[in-house]
Amino acid sequence: MRIIDEQAIKGMGMTSQRTRDRLIDRLQQKGISNLDVLRIMRRVPRHLFVDEAMSSRSYEDASLPIGHGQTISQPYIVARMTELLIEQVENLDNVLEIGTGSAYQAAILGGLVKNLHTVEVIPELYRHSRDLLYKLGYRNIRTHLGDGSWGWKEAAPYDAIIVTAAPDEIPKALIEQLKDGASMIIPVGAQNSTQKLQIVTRKNKNDISVTEHESVVFVPFVSSE
Ligand code: SAH
Repeated sequence: MRIIDEQAIKGMGMTSQRTRDRLIDRLQQKGISNLDVLRIMRRVPRHLFVDEAMSSRSYEDASLPIGHGQTISQPYIVARMTELLIEQVENLDNVLEIGTGSAYQAAILGGLVKNLHTVEVIPELYRHSRDLLYKLGYRNIRTHLGDGSWGWKEAAPYDAIIVTAAPDEIPKALIEQLKDGASMIIPVGAQNSTQKLQIVTRKNKNDISVTEHESVVFVPFVSSE
């Protein structure tokens, strides 16, 4: 699978591979060990997913503003969530992301899964991501505008779901859109307290289990549920 249109990247002023390699070294030092995740993150040019004014900081392991009060997630968190997800489920044919934002997490997943659907609630961010992913050559990612509290029914059920904004509680519709045997990774917690990464595993309709992982800080999940 051709992951990124190399010509398109050249035309956009690629910052050096060495800068990106340093970020990957840092992720490894912090404990990211999945080789597929490291390989993809070494290739995806994060500077193209942030505003030009921010691009000099794009290979720091930090979240950065992307406008509209939102942020591109910290590379370590992107790596960790991706690693947790791909280690849960063997065949990632149909995956859903809620919270497209800058589309960086989507681009990382796009290199690892067969089909990705990603939903964003802010129209400007949706349009920007849609155009950027197209320009970069991704043809296995479908971007959608909408409130992800309801998941994305048209393409359900999913092998995995990743949520990149934090709700107080896990939206029920998302659990319903998991296949039997599928997993979801989601940061859960009130905005003024610590959120925890949770992995929800659905064996079947009556057997849903949740495990809790590290503390994280995410922007709020907008909910109209
Ligand atoms: N995955 C993104 C993270 C962006 S921050 C990245 O890699 O850059 C989280 C995003 O979730 C924001 O863009 C926000 O607008 C979006 N969001 C919050 N609540 C949402 C909801 N209910 N449905 C869809 N998107 C939502």
